[in-house]
Amino acid sequence: MAYEVPPLPYDYNALEPTIDEATMKLHHDKHHQAYVDKANAALEGTELDGKSVEEALASLDKLPADQQGPFRNNGGGHANHTLFWESMSPDGGGEPGGELADAINEAFGSFDEFKSQFEANGVGQFGSGWTWLVLDGGSLKLTKTANQDSPILEGQTPLLGNDVWEHAYYLTYNNRRPDYLKAWWDVVAWDKVAERYANAK
Ligand code: MN
Repeated sequence: MAYEVPPLPYDYNALEPTIDEATMKLHHDKHHQAYVDKANAALEGTELDGKSVEEALASLDKLPADQQGPFRNNGGGHANHTLFWESMSPDGGGEPGGELADAINEAFGSFDEFKSQFEANGVGQFGSGWTWLVLDGGSLKLTKTANQDSPILEGQTPLLGNDVWEHAYYLTYNNRRPDYLKAWWDVVAWDKVAERYANAK
């Protein structure tokens, strides 16, 4: 079964003013669709055809050599964007609670320190990529990846990621990536992140 772009769980304009409607339309309907189409093409006729995108990324070396690069980029793009849409909500923002809050405080000292390091990873990613909160060997960690590389390639479970490709923010924030990273917390769906954490640990 070929991959498909999942429908957005809210309207295109639902995340305004944090993310504008035109950005959401282009990002979801055009960028994500292109990753899906190319990921499907890379898997066609291979033994990974029909596997979940997470499973396929974790088994990248089973693909023919000439399809590994295309699937790393486009399968990664599909996995990353699927997680991204689900990580946001018009009812988002605030702070996590429960076990996730405890784990963040333990790993980073405080929620504010966590946010500051997550933003710094996003600002510090030269060129396109992602800033991440991941579960790695049972511990929460912050990381960043280039292009569409998924933390799954490093054996990590992504819990929250922000897209720092210019297509994610340029219409509203222009070149001000730090402003986008700071504003983005207003739409983060912490209940979804907590659910991922509970499933992964
Ligand atoms: Mn993107």
